[in-house]
Parts: sequence; C-alpha cells; structure tokens
Amino acid sequence: MSTVKFFYGENIPLEMHKARIVQKINLQPIERRLEAIKEAGYNTFLLKNTDIFMDMLTDSGVNAMSDKQQAAMLEADDSYAGSVTFTKLEKKIKEIFGKEYFLPAHQGRACENIISQVYVKPGTIVPMNYHFTTSKAHVVLNGGTVEEIFTDEALKIDSDVPFKGNMDTGKLRDLIETNGADKIAFVRLEAGTNLIGGQPHSLENMQEIRKVCDEYGVMLVFDASLLADNLYFIKTREEQCKDISIRDITRKLADLADIIYFSARKLGCARGGGICTNSKEAYLKMRELITLYEGFLTYGGMSVREMEAMVVGLDETMDEHMINQGPQFIEYMVNELVERGVPVVTPAGGLGCHINAMEFVGHIPQEEYPAGALAAAFYLVSGVRGMERGTLSEQRDENGNEILSHMELLRLAMPRRVYSLSHVKYAVDRITWLYENRHLIGGLKFVDEPKVLRFFFGKLESTTDWETKLVEKFRADFGDSL
Ligand SMILES: *Cc1c(COP(=O)(O)O)cnc(C)c1O
Repeated sequence: MSTVKFFYGENIPLEMHKARIVQKINLQPIERRLEAIKEAGYNTFLLKNTDIFMDMLTDSGVNAMSDKQQAAMLEADDSYAGSVTFTKLEKKIKEIFGKEYFLPAHQGRACENIISQVYVKPGTIVPMNYHFTTSKAHVVLNGGTVEEIFTDEALKIDSDVPFKGNMDTGKLRDLIETNGADKIAFVRLEAGTNLIGGQPHSLENMQEIRKVCDEYGVMLVFDASLLADNLYFIKTREEQCKDISIRDITRKLADLADIIYFSARKLGCARGGGICTNSKEAYLKMRELITLYEGFLTYGGMSVREMEAMVVGLDETMDEHMINQGPQFIEYMVNELVERGVPVVTPAGGLGCHINAMEFVGHIPQEEYPAGALAAAFYLVSGVRGMERGTLSEQRDENGNEILSHMELLRLAMPRRVYSLSHVKYAVDRITWLYENRHLIGGLKFVDEPKVLRFFFGKLESTTDWETKLVEKFRADFGDSL
C-alpha cells in the first residue's frame, strides 16, 4: 500500500483487502442524537450502537477479522484441558516472540492483574514510558506507584519527533539510583503508548532500556497490546530497521523483554490476551494465579474460537500490508485536519486520530472536562463516537481533588479494516464544522461519579444548555441533512 503511487491527483491510502461481509450502520437525525447523548449522561461509553454511525471509541475487539481468521474459528478444538487449539497458539507465540512459556488470559488487564499481583509489593515503583488506565490501576491496587519517565517531547502536541513514546533512560537511571533497584518492581514499556496519542517507541530506545535494566538487575515488562502500529512505525521511521522484516523486528523487540503481555482485543484482531516469558521462575509464579482468576491453563478465560482467530491474526500481523492500514488511514485523517487548521496531535501516531481539546475548546476549564465535552459535542453533530482521554479519565486523589491530566484529547480510534475513506472524509467534514462553531461548546459536570474508573460509567450534564444552541446552528447550516 505505501509503495503504490497515484498518477493523478492526491495520494491516498489504498486498502490491500476487500470486503465480503458488511454491516448496515445507522445515521440518526441530530434530534435523536441529542436525546441519545442526554440519555447517556454525556458519556460516549454509555451510548447504544443503534444510535451510532461511526464507532471510533476504541480499536479494542472491533477490528475486522480476515476470512482466514473466520475459517480457523470453525475448526477450533474445544476441551477444558489440552486442546489442540491451545497448543497451536502456544506454538505461534513461541514462533513470533521466541518465548518458551505462555499463559493465556481473557484480556490485557487480566495479564496486568496477574503480573502486578506477583511483582508489585506495597512501596514499590513501576517506571513506565507512560501509564495506561488499567495498568496503573493494577499497580496502585497492589500498593505500588507509577513513575512516568517519558521524554520532554512526549507531551508536545505539535511535533515532528518520530518516537514520542520513548522512555527517558537518563530519568530511568536517576530513578533507580535514587530509590534503589530493590524498590523497582519492574520497568514497564508500552508499545504505541495509548494515552499520549498512539505514539511509538524505537527499537534503539528499548535496547537502551534493556542496558539500564541489566545494569541494575531489574526486570523489563513489555506491554505489546499496541505493537502492530509500533512495528509499522519502527519499520518506516527507524534507519536500522529499514531493511528488516516485520517478523525480525518483532523478534528483536521481544528478545529485549523478560515478560511480554498483550491484549488480543488489539493485537491480532481477536479477543483475549496472554503473557509469555522465557523465565521458568516467572512462569511458575504467575501460573497459579491464571487458574485462580482466568481459567485452566489451556484456555485462560478465552473461547477456543477466539484462540484460533488469534493464531491467524498474530501471523497476519507480521505482514506489513496488514499493519499499515491503520496508521496510513490515521495519517490521512490527521493531515486533512491539519490542513483545515484543526488542532491535532502530530506526527500522526497509531490507534487513532487525536484532537487536542485543550486548544479546540480552550475556553472550557479542565475541571469542566473539555475533552469529554468535545466528545459529546462531536457525537451530537456527527453520530461519530469518540473517547475522552483527559481529566475525566483520571481519578480524584485521596482528598477528592481533581488530578488534571497532562493532555486533554478526543481520541477517534480507527478500527482496522472497518471504515472506508468516505467515512473518514465525513468525520473530517463534521470535525471541521464543529471547529468553526467551537465557541458554542460548553463544559460538563458530574451528576453521578463512580470512585474507580469513573469514565466508564459516570453520568454528567452540561453546565449550560449549550447543546441546544449547537443543534440550532447545525440545522441552520445543514438544513434537513442527517
Ligand atoms: C487496551 C490496552 C490494555 C488493556 O487491554 P484489555 O484487553 O482492554 O483489557 C493494556 N495496555 C494497553 C496499551 C492497551 O491499549
């Protein structure tokens, strides 16, 4: 796809697949969308699919499967213990990551639960390039603290640095020196850093991190959930990897980690997860908890059909023409928005397009959740569902004070192989319209605020009736259009 040049006009991403099964989607009129967002407490997590046109909430469990994945699901071997399907998966993990031991788990956060319960003790620290919501929650639940040691570039919205997800190894060394190596539960590196805009780390960075870990005898845990995008960026942006296959890059990364875990809802376009390692000691420690929390060792809470889909999906992830679809569609979307002056995170990363709400609705104070308000407003004017990634996704401190997020982002995830270019153009059109009318958007306040992971279930309302004005302006500009 990246190598196809167009003779006429613009260069657009070209899909290396075709659709053979389709699903009808609904675009409700804005009046229904207004009711729907109110019913959902202005929380896009609580919208119903029947009210959604494009679902850009997440790439978790919603990527399109291939015909080969579907076919494999039909011949899954079902049994409580010792299924052929599990052996296949174990073998594929060994082939791709070069790790001897594999523990299945029902999804990514389940892996985080197991790893944190085994390695995070009260008072220990887990340094990370950046936290993910569930990974941080599990560390904290076990009495540990998270230290984010990203580079100075990581939180810059406008940038041309190719690897904003890198860990600052100088800060890592300082942190270990200051606290002592025995206080470090493990170092966690996240591929395709979810919360700072799907930004990748480089192979070189991981090699440096490994050096520091070796120096101090600290374990390196690799969260490979968003590895597919990261692999694409390493291949296209890192000089030392230009001529290396995706398979070889994967192996180089995997060789640097003591423990690898992943959400197969993202990696491999299926549903599930797993942990792999070459350390028998680590394997044995975690094994007990798998049977306690997940299921027997040969399924770990997954259906065998999903495991079959994972085997094929992981293999397909090693194909550059498969993993470039997401990043190239995202790049197209980001470039279109940049051209129209809409503030977005650059360079384009993986996972999705990230709108900078801090600037888009700069008039809304962080305590009124600008990214949450923007997510609600964007759904209202487009039927497109995105996700707030900002202060709303944080948790209050022990005194009940808001922890203001470093960034206020509206994430528009790009499920792989699901939407067409005309869908993307529609989303760009409506964001651009909303940007021109951004002064109409107001803030949100909680009416029902859960203590833990409040962004999932919390219900809010608008601070003024700004949504009514937005609907009026939409009708004035678009007439009776949907
Ligand atoms: C989604 C995600 C997880 C958690 O995986 P689930 O399958 O949703 O539990 C962990 N780490 C990263 C980087 C993720 O994107």
